[in-house]
Amino acid sequence: MKYENLKLPATKPENYLELKASLLVEGVNADRQSMKGLGVSFKEQRHGLFGWDFDDHAGTLLPDDFTLPDGTVVQFRMKNDAPYKIKQKNNKRLLYKNEIEICEVNWLRRPEFYNKKTSQGYNMPEIGQVGGEDCLFFCYQNYCSHFSKNKQCLFCNLVSTSKTYNSVLKKKTIEAIGEVAGEAWKEGMARHVLITGGCTTAENETKQVTAIVQSILKHTGLKKLPGTVLPSPAKGDSIKAYHDSGIAAIGYSMEIWDERLYSAVCPGKAENTSHKEFIESIESAVKIFGEGNVYGVFVMGIEPKESFLEGVRVISGLGANVVPFVWSPNPGSKYEGHRAPAPKWYYDTIMEAAAIVKGNKFSSDDRNHCYKCDGNSLLHDALRIRGI
Ligand code: SF4
Repeated sequence: MKYENLKLPATKPENYLELKASLLVEGVNADRQSMKGLGVSFKEQRHGLFGWDFDDHAGTLLPDDFTLPDGTVVQFRMKNDAPYKIKQKNNKRLLYKNEIEICEVNWLRRPEFYNKKTSQGYNMPEIGQVGGEDCLFFCYQNYCSHFSKNKQCLFCNLVSTSKTYNSVLKKKTIEAIGEVAGEAWKEGMARHVLITGGCTTAENETKQVTAIVQSILKHTGLKKLPGTVLPSPAKGDSIKAYHDSGIAAIGYSMEIWDERLYSAVCPGKAENTSHKEFIESIESAVKIFGEGNVYGVFVMGIEPKESFLEGVRVISGLGANVVPFVWSPNPGSKYEGHRAPAPKWYYDTIMEAAAIVKGNKFSSDDRNHCYKCDGNSLLHDALRIRGI
């Protein structure tokens, strides 16, 4: 056992969870040789909405994510001086920490549709991107009204990401989204979708999402769309409208559980949707979509463990899932240059969160979201360890 920070044998899932937390918090880098085939055989980053790297890398292709030996998916968060480095050695890609070999890793397969164009001539990866191994992501409009009033969430770098990389279309047509989904399903690269608008105040958002879902259903031949829509917080009648669109699940980006911290960290969002409205809406959504088909989405690492876990307790007590993304103090956000809590904090907190979710015992399956969907959340991995 060479890796000094891991207390358990490296083959135990707990170790890979701890390692994943460390990779997300401390960042990673890779040598040129290990990245051979990137953008051809292996999936490259496409910056569909936010940038998660610690350092910008305009003009340089980087991997989107990679897998650890037990199948854990890890988001590649580039940091020039990261302690972790992936190197090519004897036809293998090996992960090192400060020159100490830890384990073999693998890049993820590049979707074939990344080489294709829609009938309207758009490059398909500028419309939709695959997150992790099997989640097809669409941001129908890369826009958020809070930036123009300087009231954006302090951790968000939507505008800066768009300016730095300009790698996706800001607004996608409904037909193009359907065609991309059709190709992704045909080649077996998608099991679920994640559809979001990056937070728009447009009143016709439900109509827009309905048209998008219908277009995807038409092009894939599916009857019901497995996956999640994450619109501006859906309230009142709009919840039913989203349900009737044909998508299986809905998400709510609450971001921060503690009410006062939420108002301070997400000033624009808190003016439009209060903590209380979020809870009431999630409760209503569970009644309409069913237990396990609603998601509360959080940024993990900004608020204290106690209040985060309280949020997990309440949300999962309502019959909804929790998806907590590991905070990256990324370039272009107001928190740029800050540091996230230590990897051990993430490991301990997420194991407690998994115990809470397990204790709430509502029925949930992996039709809409699974541990292969994204590499920047730890809870689905911790739940696997807990036997869920
Ligand atoms: S609501 Fe917050 S997280 Fe969402 S796009 Fe706007 S600023 Fe970013």
